[in-house]
This record gives sequence, C-alpha cells and structure tokens, in this order.
Amino acid sequence: MDRLSTFAIMAITVTSAAGCAAGGDAAGETPWIVDRFDDIKVIRYEVPGFSELPLAEKELVYYLAEAAKCGRDILFDQNCEANLPVRRTLETIYERYDGDRTGKEWAAMEKYLKKVWFANGIHHHYSNDKFTPEFSAGYFDSLCEAVGDEAFGAELAAMRPWVREAIFNPAMYPTRLNQKAGDDLLWTSSSNYYRNVRQAEAEAFYDAMVDHSDPAPVSYGLNSQLVKDEKTGRIYERTWKVGGMYSPAIERIVYWLEKAADVAAEPQKSTINALTNYYRTGDLREFDRYNIMWVKDTVSNVDFVNGFIEDYGDPLGRKASWEANVNFMDKEACHRTEVISENAQWFEDNSPVDPAYKKKVVKGVSAKVITVGMLGGDCYPATPIGINLPNADWIRKEYGSKSVTIDNITYAYAQAAHGNGFLEEFMLRDDDRERIDKYGKLADDLHTDIHECLGHGSGQLAPGVKGGELKSYGSTLEETRADLFGLYYLGDEKLVELGIIPTLDVAKAQYAEYIMNGMMTQFSRIELGKDVEESHMRNRKLIAEWCYEHGRERNVIEWVKKNGKSYVVVNDFDALRSLFGEMLREIQRIKSEGDYEAGRELVETYAVKIDHELHAEVLERYGALGIEPYGGFVNPEYELVERDGKVVDVKVSYPADYVKQMMHYSKEYSYLPNRN
Ligand code: ZN
Repeated sequence: MDRLSTFAIMAITVTSAAGCAAGGDAAGETPWIVDRFDDIKVIRYEVPGFSELPLAEKELVYYLAEAAKCGRDILFDQNCEANLPVRRTLETIYERYDGDRTGKEWAAMEKYLKKVWFANGIHHHYSNDKFTPEFSAGYFDSLCEAVGDEAFGAELAAMRPWVREAIFNPAMYPTRLNQKAGDDLLWTSSSNYYRNVRQAEAEAFYDAMVDHSDPAPVSYGLNSQLVKDEKTGRIYERTWKVGGMYSPAIERIVYWLEKAADVAAEPQKSTINALTNYYRTGDLREFDRYNIMWVKDTVSNVDFVNGFIEDYGDPLGRKASWEANVNFMDKEACHRTEVISENAQWFEDNSPVDPAYKKKVVKGVSAKVITVGMLGGDCYPATPIGINLPNADWIRKEYGSKSVTIDNITYAYAQAAHGNGFLEEFMLRDDDRERIDKYGKLADDLHTDIHECLGHGSGQLAPGVKGGELKSYGSTLEETRADLFGLYYLGDEKLVELGIIPTLDVAKAQYAEYIMNGMMTQFSRIELGKDVEESHMRNRKLIAEWCYEHGRERNVIEWVKKNGKSYVVVNDFDALRSLFGEMLREIQRIKSEGDYEAGRELVETYAVKIDHELHAEVLERYGALGIEPYGGFVNPEYELVERDGKVVDVKVSYPADYVKQMMHYSKEYSYLPNRN
C-alpha cells in the first residue's frame, strides 16, 4: 500500500508552498529543480532536523542510508533482464566518448540515459511502456566503435547486439507490465520476475503452496524469481538472499545493516537483526517476524524500510521489488496525525458505512510525519510521499500497520511547483484559487493523513469473505475507499473542533482541486488515445465522475466553457460531501461482500475511458505551461567525521547534480553481474 501516496503528488504539484508548516531552512540560492528532461523534473530535498539528532542516531541514519543505496542494481534487474547491460553500455559511452558532445544525437542519447536512470530501466516508471530512443541505432554503433570494446570489457561488448535490440527494437520488451485481461500476463510482461513461465503454470505453482487454513499465511513468491527449466520442464524458485540470486548486492546490504544494528538501541537492534537473518536465509516466516517487530516499534526515532516490499511490478501481484528509505520523526508535524489517530474510533463509529461493515474496535493505527533522509531502490528517484506497511493482511489485522507521511518531500514538491501557472490555467474561480493558495498544502497533507491513518484500516469484511475477491479491481477500489474516507472527513466539523483545521475552507480547497484533478488535469499524464490504467488515477477518476453523475440533477459539479476552454467547478460543497459519504458506503459494501461484479461495473463505467476531445485539450493546455508531469529526487549525501578513529559527527550536504549522483551510484554501489 506504500505506493498509493506516490500518486497523491499530482495534487501537491498544483498547490503553492504558502503556509507550509514544515521544511525547515530557506532554500537559499540553490534552485529546487536540479534537472529537467522529457516529462521529468528532478528536485532536491533537504533534511531539516538532521544536524540536531544525537550522534548515535546520526550514525544510524548513515549506516541505514548506505544499506539503502546497495540494492539499486537489484531493482534494475527485476524491472527487465536487459536493464543492467543497457545502463552500463550507455554509462561507458557517456564516460569514455571523447568525440563531439554538442550535437542533437548526443543530446538525445544523454536524455535517454537520464530516463533509464530515472525509471531504473528501459521502461517508463509510470506507463511501463518501453522508451523510444531519439537517436539512431547507427549513431549508437558509431559511439560504441569510437569508445572501443576494451572500455566495455569483453562480456559487455559481447552483449552489444542484445543491448542494441533492447534499446532500438520496439517489439522487444515492449512493456514492463501488461495487465490486459485475456493475455498471458507473464509472457507479455518484460519484467524479470518470471523466466520462461506461463501465467497458468505460475498460478498453479503457487496455488499448490498456499495453505488456505493458515491463520498466518506466508507471502509465497515474494522474494524469488520463478523459473522453468527449458530442458526438464521443472519449475522452481531462485530466492533473493545471501548465497542465492542477487547475493552480491544483498551481502552489501547486510554488511551495512549489521553496522546499523551495532549503533541501534533496543528494540530496533533486534528488529534489524531479524531483517539480516531474513536476508541470509530467505525464509519468509522470518520476514513476517521482522515485520511484526518493525510495526510494534513505535518508539525509535530513526526508522527505515529495506527489502522486497511492494508487488505492483508483478502482473500477478506476488513478487516484490526492492526498495529502501531511511527517515526520522518530524515531531512538531506529528501532532496533527496524533490527534487523528487518537480519535480513530470516533471516525469509524461515525462513518456513513453500513454498521455491519464497521470495525467494532479500531486498533493499531500509528501515525507519524517523517523527514526522509535517504531514498533507495523503488523509492528512488521517484518516491511515495506516504508509507503504509507492512503489506501482509494478517499482520495488519493482528498487529496494525505504520502509517507515515513524508513532509520534507511534499515540501520540496511544493517549492518546486511554486508559481508554475498551473492553477491559473485550469482553475476557473478566484475563490477556489485563493482557498488553495491559503490551505492547499494543509488540505493535501490532511487528506493523505486520513487516507493513510484511518482510511485503509477502516471497515471489516463480511464473514466468509477473504479479501482477494475483487481481483484486478481490488487495488483501485481499495484506494477509492481510503480516498473517500479522507474526503468525507475533511469536510467534518469534528476536524475544526479537534483544532486540526481552522475552517472548513480547507475542505473546499481540497474538494475543488480533487474534482478538477480527477475529471481533467490528471489526464495530462496519459498519452492521447490511451485509457487510464494506474490504480490511483483510476480511483480519482472513479470518485470524481461518479459524484458528477450522481449530483447531475442538482448541478453539484458543473462543466463550464469559457473562451473555448473547459473548466470543471464544484457548485455545492455540502452536497458533494454527502455524495462522498454515499459512495464510501457503497465501496465499503463492495469490499466487505467481495462483490466483484459491482466493483468491475463501477471501475469500467467511470474510471477507465477518457473523452478524446477533453484529453487532447488538457494535453495542449498543460503542454503550453511547460511543466513536467513527473518528479523525482536527488539524495543528500552523508559523510562520517572521524577523530582518532572514532566517529564524532555525521555531516549532511545537498548535491544538486543528477547526472553526477547517478554515475556515482553506478560506480560505488553497483554489485551485480550483467546477467543474474
Ligand atoms: Zn491508499
């Protein structure tokens, strides 16, 4: 569920930074946006509060941050088997070519490499489509020849024809993740989670492993590649562990985690030890044990994610990509979520959901606002702005989950978006714009807080319903449910009463922005003629379009044409809030009863198809603003300060060079062979 918030970012990019509570020091002279290419902007983020941490915690951040950098190659290889050879070939050219670096084709090659770094591979990080190079295969050949085979090394040089095809042949590895019903999803997806295995074979393999009566079901398949031996036809797993697949990188991760354990206090020391033990054994029960310890630890100031966590990249939703993040508590900003969390039961009791599907006792909701200190793997350079882990349902039910929002990242986004002209272009009414200017950041943060802290944890299933019934519509409907919970309560007087918001204008700001985004502006991220595929985008469209349709007679939401431009406006905020409540009730019913048909109908009716004319208009207007729809980050750097062989301090600095950081990581934190 980690990823859900990645895509809340769209909302944030439209708000100004006015009134932002956190973020610390002023930006000074250094710009927030450090690189731009194609549809991407790269932003730097700062780590306010790091210098004030006690030495032991600074050291802990340092070691965990090193561990966070060591799995980068794993993600590249998971995303596609050709990724590491492609990246290394291009990096070698980039570093060694001493011919003309000013021409159009060189610039196109450089842009392509920047995109490969950003996406951790040759497929777009968001659309999953393979990149189309804007330089020719002939030019690529001439660069390789000029650099010479020796520079590449014999192995990489021998892989050249394959690398060339991977880059230039559109029919090879066309999409990283195919989710089209009816296709063999494994055969048609280019990710590297399965090798030579048909979908039906993989499903049968895991069906045979799963014990449906186990109250603590193991997440089978989470940390392995599934392979079919071409000769014998035997299907088996290659586990990602020390001594297994990806061992050279995992050994380095373990090395730094052990250093971290040395300076960590209990209970964190034992938690880290459980994680290293899991990395050594590959035992998924050990991973569960680690997760339980991790989720129970709400006292450690420094915290981290490190492992095979999210399964969004696997069409079967079983294999997890490697990711990491290091963070510490933002104590002042935590107050807001503490208040929400303390009142969790009130929110559950007063929700518009059918009483049968409410939790009698809501437990395990821990809420934090954090400052992130390092991003790695699938959190880098593009990162979620919230975390809700662990993912195993039974652990969440038994022990709860940790929900955090990452304030220094959202702050950096807001800074980077300030004054980009977006609101002026798409938002019709002055009062909406003024409210967003004033409360936009708070409204976004609060919506994310409620979504994460209360939304996902709310509700219960009917007896006999297992939770997987909604299948491929499950994640869209789950995000819809959590978003609606947030939207509904954002407009509740209770928040004013609790002192979290000064006025319900905060809700109005969010409502106007959410509807505009769901029905219109988010399409700026989709190629003309394509459907909405990503589940968070589907969820937003579903909510906005459903409310439009169901409030149509009362004109709750209205399309307005002015000077040939389309605008969507909210006319009646109270009625809209009622619609959110009504819809939440229905979505919760669908989840609780596992009503696949009703869920499918809703998603297919409201969330998938985009009006072609509107889509073209949005793209044109958005394009004219010159804003990149996707953002990612360069990491800060940490340096140990030693005296007489002892660590006396850790210094943080903020590099502002994307290319330099990527080349540095590829040199210093690259442990895997070309083929794994
Ligand atoms: Zn969510």
